[in-house]
Amino acid sequence: GDSKKDQLIQMHEDSVELYHHILVNTTAGEEALQYLLDRGLTMETIETFKIGFSPKERTVLLQYLQGKEYTEQQMEESGLFITRENGDKMDRFSNRILFPVENQQGKVVALSGRLFKVTENPHFNEPKYLNSPETYLFNKRKVLFNYKRARSTIRKEKEAILFEGFMDVISAYQAGVTNALATMGTSLTNEQIHMLDRITDKIVVAYDGDNAGIEATKRATDLLTEETHFDVEVVSFPEGLDPDDYIKQKSPESFVEFVRHGRDTLFNFKMRYYRKSLNLNNESERLGYIEKILNEMLTIPSAVEREVYLKQLSEEFDLTLETLKEQFQQTFYAYQ
Ligand code: ATP
Ligand code: MN
Ligand code: MN
Ligand code: MN
Repeated sequence: GDSKKDQLIQMHEDSVELYHHILVNTTAGEEALQYLLDRGLTMETIETFKIGFSPKERTVLLQYLQGKEYTEQQMEESGLFITRENGDKMDRFSNRILFPVENQQGKVVALSGRLFKVTENPHFNEPKYLNSPETYLFNKRKVLFNYKRARSTIRKEKEAILFEGFMDVISAYQAGVTNALATMGTSLTNEQIHMLDRITDKIVVAYDGDNAGIEATKRATDLLTEETHFDVEVVSFPEGLDPDDYIKQKSPESFVEFVRHGRDTLFNFKMRYYRKSLNLNNESERLGYIEKILNEMLTIPSAVEREVYLKQLSEEFDLTLETLKEQFQQTFYAYQ
């Protein structure tokens, strides 16, 4: 096998073990643990995802790993440390709640750390999440958070649910939705689409209920349907809520209900997406919208489904079904 890889993975597994121990068993981790419990996570979930905590002191992991048989070179390549100006190493993650990031085999290849309280220096703007850098082990384009854990459920249920954030994946898992995945803060990549393609034909995109989430949904659904032919559905959360917020504000049960039965077809999502930026009282914008929708309808293979949407359009814009059908035929033949 690849012994360099094995060593680096072992180093990550050791780090996760230390950080998890600090979170659940030490006073240094008390505040962070309380934060997670206040967010609604159970101890069981914290165990399952091996969540940890890196204390403020920046030599905790360094000293721990120096006590094992790793070389300087390996420490360097792990991405778990940064180098001070004087050349000394220190822990990359400090005062953060840590989430192990696993590869397709379920081995830890990176960490992501969440800031959970404001630091002393208000002028220093630290990012909410900090990921490991790209390393020999970690390429964030090739990682889907929770892939290994979710794989068998995805196959069984014949669909994968895609969230924006890995906190959403964790909360949903606790609520019983165990076929969910998330990217590591990037938009969907070809590599990730390929990983999905191997295990399912259907993707449910359930991004955050804000404008960024809606834009990201459009991008993701385009990617999922352009080159590959996934069956795609969309869950639109109420304005301002992400999946995790929804669980907390409503209940795990109503979340499960919403994710299972509150879905839009891709076409309905696109209709809402296009009209978001239009003023449909304006005649030319209205005509442009109708044309865009008819155009979009060319991608729907089912005649029954097309009929349903044509009916929706005709009712909404007070046009006869015949007129719309005629227009659709023209669009259709224009593209033959
Ligand atoms: P929380 O509920 O803890 O605030 P979230 O899951 O709602 O977190 P979002 O802000 O919605 O997080 O971001 C979604 C994802 O984008 C995160 O899971 C993370 O991977 C990534 N992300 C967010 N903020 C940052 C950041 N500052 N740097 C790097 N990645 C980030
Ligand atoms: Mn967001
Ligand atoms: Mn979010
Ligand atoms: Mn959130």
